[in-house]
Amino acid sequence: MSKSALITGVTGQDGAYLCKLLLGKGYKVFGLARRLSTPNLWRLKYFDIVDKIEILDGDLLDQESLATAVKKAKPDEVYNLAAQSFVATSWTQPILTSEIDGLGVVRLLNAVRSFAPHAKFYQASTSEMYGNSHTNGKQDEQTALHPRSPYAIAKLYAHWMTINYRESYDMFNCCGILFNHESPIRGIEFVTRKITDAVARIKLGLQDKLLLGNLDARRDWGFAGDYVEAMWLMLQQDKPEEYVVATGENHSVRDFCSAAFGAVGISDWEKYVGIDKRYIRPAELNILQGIPNKATERLGWKPKVTFKELVQMMVEAELKRLSSNRSHQSLASNLIHDSEQLKKEIKVKNI
Ligand code: NDP
Ligand code: GDP
Repeated sequence: MSKSALITGVTGQDGAYLCKLLLGKGYKVFGLARRLSTPNLWRLKYFDIVDKIEILDGDLLDQESLATAVKKAKPDEVYNLAAQSFVATSWTQPILTSEIDGLGVVRLLNAVRSFAPHAKFYQASTSEMYGNSHTNGKQDEQTALHPRSPYAIAKLYAHWMTINYRESYDMFNCCGILFNHESPIRGIEFVTRKITDAVARIKLGLQDKLLLGNLDARRDWGFAGDYVEAMWLMLQQDKPEEYVVATGENHSVRDFCSAAFGAVGISDWEKYVGIDKRYIRPAELNILQGIPNKATERLGWKPKVTFKELVQMMVEAELKRLSSNRSHQSLASNLIHDSEQLKKEIKVKNI
C-alpha cells in the first residue's frame, strides 16, 4: 500500500517541491492550507500538481483544524513546513511570528501525538538559529545556537519542543537544520529572488534600479529541489535525529548580484544597484556556512545544483516569465486595438 504524507505549508516553495517529490515516489499527499480570500496555488500550478494532491483546510493558529486534518489524512509522515518564514517581517510582527512558528508547532505536535502517534514528523528548523555563532567559521549540529531575530527565536523554541516531544513521548521527530535554499518559486521578498527578478527586468528594460540592504552578508545558498530530498531521507532512517543540510560554501549578496547580472551579460552591475536603509536589519547574521557531513555520511545526501547553476536557473526562469507576460500583454493590447478598430468600423458602417 502506498504511504501517505501530510505537508503543512504546501503552498510555499518547499511545500511545492516536496509534493512533487512525494508524488513521484507514489505517496498519497495531503496538503494543509490556510484560508485566504484568494487561494495561493501558483506554485502547485507551476508544477501542474494541484489536482494530484488533497488540500485540507487548516491553520497553525487553530488547534481544532489541525486535529481534523491529521484525523482525515491518517499520515505515515508529517512534514511541518508552514511558517511566517521571512526574517525581516519577524521584527514588525514578532507576536504573529511566535504564534505561528513557535506555538503553532506545538499545536501540530499535539494533534499528531493524539491522532497519528506513529507518524514520522519533520520540523523545518533553520540555520538562522545559529545567529553569528560558529565553529571555526562554520556551523554543524554541535555549534551553539544564538538566534538574533524573532523568527529565529520562535524556530528555536519549535526545534526544542519537537525534540522534547520525541524524548517525552517516544515520537519519531526529526529537525532538519536547513541553510538558505532558493529556486525560481522562492518568495519575491527574499534577496535571491528579488535580485533575479530585478536583473531580468533591467535586462528587458522594465526597471532601472535595484535597491538592497547589506551587500556583505554571506549565506550558504542551495537549491530547494535538492533540500526536500534531504527532508524525505531523514524520515526514512531507523532513528530520528537532527541534520544540517547545506552546500558547505558561502557567497555574499554582492557575489549573488555579480553572478545574476553576469548571467545576462551585464558586468558593470554596480551602477544598477543602490543601498536603501529600509532593507538593513536591526540585527544581522554575517556569515552562514553549513557543514553537511552528517547528512552526506548518514543519509547519502549531497547537493546536486551548484551556486552558479542556481543563479543561472533563477535568472532564466525570470526572463521566461517576464517575456511571456510581455507577449501576453502585447496580445492583450492587440486584442484591445482590434476591438477598438471593430467599434470604429461598426460606427462607420452605422451597424
Ligand atoms: P514559504 O514562505 O515559501 O512557505 C511558507 C508556507 O507556510 C506557505 O505555504 C504559507 O501559506 C504557510 N503558512 C504561513 N502561515 C501559516 C499558518 N498560520 N497556518 C498554516 N500555514 C501557514 O517558506 P519555504 O517554503 O521557503 O520554507 C519552508 C519552511 O522551511 C518554513 O518553515 C521556513 O521557515 C523553513 N526554512 C526555510 C528556509 C529557506 O531557505 N527556504 C531555510 C530554513 C528553514 P500561505 O500560502 O497561505 O502564505
Ligand atoms: P534570510 O537569510 O532568511 O534572512 O534570507 P533573505 O534572503 O531575506 O536575506 C539574506 C541576506 O540578504 C540577509 O543577510 C539580508 O540582510 C541580506 N539582504 C541585503 N539586501 C536585502 C534585501 O533587499 N532584501 C532581503 N530580503 N535581504 C537582503
